[in-house]
Amino acid sequence: MKRPNILILGAGYGGLTTAVNLQKKLGYDEAEITLVNKNSYHYESTWLHEASAGTLKPERVRYEIKDVLNKKVHFVQEAVEKIDIKNKRVVTNIGELTYDYLVVGLGFEGETFGIEGLDKFAFGITNVNDARKIRDHINTQFAEWASQEVSEKDDSLLTIVVGGAGFTGIEFLGELANKIPELCKEYDVPKEKVRVICVEAAPAVLPMYSPKLVNYAIKALTKKGIEFSVGTPVVQATEEGVKIKKGPNEFEFIKASTVVWAAGVRGSRIVEESDLPSKRARVAVEDDLRVPGYPDIFMVGDCAFLMNKETERPYPTTAQIAMQQAITVAENLVAMVKGEETKTFVPNLKGSICSLGNSDAIGNVFGKEFTGKSASIMKKIIDNRALYFIGGTSLVWKKGKLNLFK
Ligand code: FAD
Ligand code: NAD
Repeated sequence: MKRPNILILGAGYGGLTTAVNLQKKLGYDEAEITLVNKNSYHYESTWLHEASAGTLKPERVRYEIKDVLNKKVHFVQEAVEKIDIKNKRVVTNIGELTYDYLVVGLGFEGETFGIEGLDKFAFGITNVNDARKIRDHINTQFAEWASQEVSEKDDSLLTIVVGGAGFTGIEFLGELANKIPELCKEYDVPKEKVRVICVEAAPAVLPMYSPKLVNYAIKALTKKGIEFSVGTPVVQATEEGVKIKKGPNEFEFIKASTVVWAAGVRGSRIVEESDLPSKRARVAVEDDLRVPGYPDIFMVGDCAFLMNKETERPYPTTAQIAMQQAITVAENLVAMVKGEETKTFVPNLKGSICSLGNSDAIGNVFGKEFTGKSASIMKKIIDNRALYFIGGTSLVWKKGKLNLFK
């Protein structure tokens, strides 16, 4: 009998966790499993703010996909260009792949909400290549300022605007705050010349946390020189900087040669361009994570949209949820291959931690609030745990954050 053909798109937290769970649960003779990813490596998206600020080498953020797969999963390094659900095939830059069951885990892209100029003039913290670009760009601006004649120095080279004070914005600011003194030393730049401004549209930063935690974060970052402009949405980006809205008819232009956009994410463009019903490139899924009307297609991670029926709000798009979903997707695929019933995905939200640089953080875990060193240690344990669930102890030794107390 022909083995069913399972095709997994994307080797992020969702796709790769699905693959490693399937290779544990299915025998060679039970299914053919193929994993497609555009790079040979998986990257820890949750560490990209560190690579972007230059506090962690990009090499540390990624590992080879083949290192965590056994021979049951066939890995192909190809870029998905089109999902053709009518003909049950996926077009890539190399050719095409067919499927009996499809798992879509193509992840997130930056959301610019159509704001003029952002696509062209702002950087996004979305993958390893983008992270390297941000790091190199900031270094170049410092070097450029240092090489200008004293009378001609353009201080906007040393101004960095970070759009959005959600998790990504705040975590990036935490890393940047620690990196700036190093850059100042390296490029002979007086620290007072550097401005890092966080612009947030909403009236408060990190609305999911209590005022106590938020105040802790703002105080810690302000102490290191970060400025906040809250309740002032970015409305335009140009080559020279950003325009922010300060009142009904009041605008300010911040001259800055670096703009990093961290104001939200959407799903993959490939999902949006397919015939799957999507909103902001996310597909609403059934309780078992399949697409309504398409019993052979699962969505996992940031491309899936799932409502929390208790709060009547969507679950946040996080690595935590992506990995939990992937376990259920793998179990449901095994059930389908064996002709059994699929089961409902039940998220187990443990809380969240927002880092403020390498050794400081705030967070709420199992309903208890943490700040400082203890929160930071917990964050590193969570990071190591994600590595462990995909690649076991050897991956933790290779890539883990082993110095918990630094
Ligand atoms: P991704 O991790 O985005 O993986 C998608 C994969 O698909 C990638 O390997 C990509 O290369 C591949 N791919 C994309 N397009 C194609 C294509 N066309 N062809 C082939 N392959 C393709 N969440 C938490 O729970 N905790 C945190 O601490 C946390 N920190 C974060 C910090 C930052 C800076 C950011 C940006 C996000 C953070 N998140 C965190 C959110 C988390 O990273 C995402 O929710 C998570 O990465 C989603 O996983 P995913 O598998 O859906 O997609
Ligand atoms: P987000 O949507 O959580 O936050 C974006 C922020 O940008 C919001 O505060 C929003 O008000 C602001 N914003 C929107 N438009 C703006 C504008 N025009 N001008 C200025 N500000 C504007 O997005 P994120 O921080 O990128 O996070 C994406 C997902 O990844 C979330 O689900 C988050 O939970 C997850 N994440 C988690 C962690 C963690 O757990 N430590 C870290 C990073 C990201």
